[in-house]
Amino acid sequence: MSSDVRKYYEARKDEDDYIRLLESKIKYLETEKEKLLMKIRYYKSEIEKLLSPPLIEAVVLSILDDGRVVVKSSTGPNLIVNVLGTVPRDKIRPGQHVALNQRGSTIVDVLPEYEDPYVKSMEVIERPNVTFDDIGGLKEQIRELIEVVELPLKNPELFEEIGIEPPKGVLLYGPPGCGKTLLAKAVARESGATFISIVGSELVQKFIGEGARIVREVFKYARKKAPAIVFIDEIDAIAARRLDIGTSGEREVQRTLMQLLAEIDGFKPLDKVKIIAATNRIDILDPAILRPGRFDRLIEVPLPDLKGRYEIFKVHTRRMKLAEDVDLYELARITEGATGAEIKAIVTEAGYNAIRNNRRKVNMNDFLEAVRKVMSKKSIREKNIDILGSKEKEYSTSYMF
Ligand code: ATP
Repeated sequence: MSSDVRKYYEARKDEDDYIRLLESKIKYLETEKEKLLMKIRYYKSEIEKLLSPPLIEAVVLSILDDGRVVVKSSTGPNLIVNVLGTVPRDKIRPGQHVALNQRGSTIVDVLPEYEDPYVKSMEVIERPNVTFDDIGGLKEQIRELIEVVELPLKNPELFEEIGIEPPKGVLLYGPPGCGKTLLAKAVARESGATFISIVGSELVQKFIGEGARIVREVFKYARKKAPAIVFIDEIDAIAARRLDIGTSGEREVQRTLMQLLAEIDGFKPLDKVKIIAATNRIDILDPAILRPGRFDRLIEVPLPDLKGRYEIFKVHTRRMKLAEDVDLYELARITEGATGAEIKAIVTEAGYNAIRNNRRKVNMNDFLEAVRKVMSKKSIREKNIDILGSKEKEYSTSYMF
């Protein structure tokens, strides 16, 4: 090859290399450009969000024949509004949350369903399926509940005639799993009252004023559903005595308690709403809630004694096929310290033992094995609670009180 030709080829090679280099640069710059365009789009949409006027939340009340919609806006008044063409008409139903434009004249969006904390934290049972026969022992507690809850709900005229006022609220206290909820449900059923239950710890909400609002709504609902029993479990979560209400969380809990007291004070003893509260920690309750006219009847629901345990075994084995050798009295004797819930767990476990062994009847051995299992779990749990309890005490002395 002549030197001219070689030179020519070398120059071509250099040129090719240079072109490849430029091409890869172009590719790199193109992807950079794409990235920057994406960033611009993102910031543009953020600017749009910042500049767009806030929308007004509303709830659809009804739909008029001419297609316009009556809504209750969160700003207060009921409004008659139009619907923007892009909004799916089939989604506009009474109860639906929608967004109105800033002037409040048109529905511009349908909002996703969200759960109202008030609905979420309340359980309503029109007719609980627990009767007094489903409760083992606790005869004295049942008698007292009949006197202070069932009788005034069913025969208020009796109290008017005699001229006495029954208590508005009853506080059930005692260790967990001994039948407080069961008692409340049973008395609601026997009095033909709607059972509305809320849990104290669920009233402690993230947002200021929300706990108090839930309390207000629950009582409003109870009045509508009267006769009704409002059952507040774990009332200590909102009614614990506080020496210092420093943090905003504690002030919020205090506000919820104030609303509860206002509600209780607001109705008369013979109104058809009764409140039953339950706690495992009566020792820490704020005395304000125990004042006359509030929870002025305290009923202790203690750990079942021997007779109580026997009765609870009887209740839970009612529908069970028992072998001849099953001695419920002996089972009650060897389960000292067990709660009602633990006895129920023993009975269920014994049933499982029989199923595992392919038997149709449950025998004493099944029960003894179940007692061993449940009671040993109990002692492990109690040990842990002891450790936790002492830790809690350490914290509470150094931090809260
Ligand atoms: P907590 O404080 O944990 O809410 P509690 O005292 O309200 O407890 P319950 O929820 O009433 O306890 O009881 C839990 C379960 O234990 C009941 O569903 C029931 O099966 C059983 N149980 C407890 N006590 C009795 C009882 N006296 N008779 C029959 N079953 C009982």
